[in-house]
Amino acid sequence: MTAETLSIDTLVVGAGQAGVAMSEHLGKLGVPHLVLERDRIAERWRTGRWDSLVANGPAWHDRFPGLEFEGLDPDAFAGKDQVAEYFEAYARKFNAPIRTGVEVTSVKRRDGHPGFTIETTDGVIEANRVVVATGPFQRPVIPQLAPDDAGLTQLHSADYRNPAQLPEGAVLVVGAGSSGVQIADELQRAGRQVYLSVGAHDRPPRSYRGRDFCWWLGVLGEWDKEVAGPGREHVTIAVSGAYGGQTIDFRKLAHRGITLVGLTRSFANGVVSFEQDLADNIRRGDENLMALLDAADAYVQRNGIDLPEEPDARLVPPDPDCVTQPLRELDLAQAGVKTIIWATGYAVDFNWLQVDTFDAKGKPQHQRGVAKEPGIYFVGLPWLSRRGSSFIWGVWHDAKHIADHIATQRKYLAYHDASQRRQNERLARAATEAEASREKSQVTKANELGVN
Ligand SMILES: Cc1cc2nc3c(=O)[nH]c(=O)nc-3n(C[C@H](O)[C@H](O)[C@H](O)COP(=O)(O)OP(=O)(O)OC[C@H]3O[C@@H](n4cnc5c(N)ncnc54)[C@H](O)[C@@H]3O)c2cc1C
Repeated sequence: MTAETLSIDTLVVGAGQAGVAMSEHLGKLGVPHLVLERDRIAERWRTGRWDSLVANGPAWHDRFPGLEFEGLDPDAFAGKDQVAEYFEAYARKFNAPIRTGVEVTSVKRRDGHPGFTIETTDGVIEANRVVVATGPFQRPVIPQLAPDDAGLTQLHSADYRNPAQLPEGAVLVVGAGSSGVQIADELQRAGRQVYLSVGAHDRPPRSYRGRDFCWWLGVLGEWDKEVAGPGREHVTIAVSGAYGGQTIDFRKLAHRGITLVGLTRSFANGVVSFEQDLADNIRRGDENLMALLDAADAYVQRNGIDLPEEPDARLVPPDPDCVTQPLRELDLAQAGVKTIIWATGYAVDFNWLQVDTFDAKGKPQHQRGVAKEPGIYFVGLPWLSRRGSSFIWGVWHDAKHIADHIATQRKYLAYHDASQRRQNERLARAATEAEASREKSQVTKANELGVN
């Protein structure tokens, strides 16, 4: 790729699940394309997750339609390395044109020509289209609360690997979505004193009436919801496939020894203050769980499906002391807290994408992944077209839509009107005649030289 400029119809940036799905669909539609990945295929699943992480959904659900997980019970939860191997195998299956170890450093619209000039760590590329598949979770976000020199180990959940990596002592985990709650659970099981700061969350049952919550969200049309309810876009979901898959129940975690606290508000002189919203957050989480149970029961009744009743799913353990008498603040030194883990989410980073498709806040503007800037596409972003868009099963369908859009655009551009068609036919005829006369003169020459 170095030295000369490479030209390609469509360039896909990133070879996580989104880039792999994109390549499959583009290939099926005959769109010449190349995928560039700065690290390895599905790198985030290899090195951007903690050691014990398993998929949030069972293997029958968290996969692409064209391949099952080899050697894994469909109801089991794939480990992070199995997920990475799955995508590598998937890309091999259709010979995806992926180049690894090449980073895209800038994309700019070409002046006076359609398409884009793309600079990479291995040369320049010209492409008519660019599909951005660089992930929904690119840059770990840590709120500016505790200063770096607070005498604590502070890390984002993206950098957490296992309990042994942390210094001895208690741990404050801030954020109780799927990452925070699983990390807190693992640390408590490893014998650590853990404080878990719990904000607004959804917490579906791991399973109900013999069906995993992924199944329920599917049949109830929840994965396909196109917009989050008002104010719900950033509500995290507390779910886990760890230890065979269990419903996240904050009260149970507290009864096991984790100290729950409200949203983390501020930090001053080694003392962390919390909002007094813990009981409310837990109550709203319960309501979310009960609403799903209600919807599931209504679905069973309406459709006359034979699924066993499960009244125990509605049992709520008694409120633990940390919920009835919540901590307002925590003196970290007194509590022996040596580490804060910020499980506070991620942002996107599109500095390298220098095109006109961002709003004033830097948010990509697009319709189902088709960007405002013609020729630019996004795939894999949260809520790109629906709730499932950033998850394994959902990204495949979004990629299909985008590949279709690209193929349709190519068809428009390949259209020639009647006079262009006549001109093309004349050119083709002239080329055939020239070829025939060239062949004829070669035969005559050979005959003259007596060559058989
Ligand atoms: C802790 C955690 C657990 C999750 N668990 C699940 C789960 O169980 N089930 C599920 O469905 N979803 C899960 N998700 C959500 C989602 O499936 C993952 O985030 C997934 O990795 C997203 O895939 P992607 O291809 O969109 O992005 P990524 O996996 O982030 O892939 C993007 C790729 O682009 C590359 N890249 C970025 N910038 C450039 C550049 N400039 N040039 C070249 N390459 C570049 C990166 O190296 C990366 O490999 C989880 C997310 C997290 C954070």
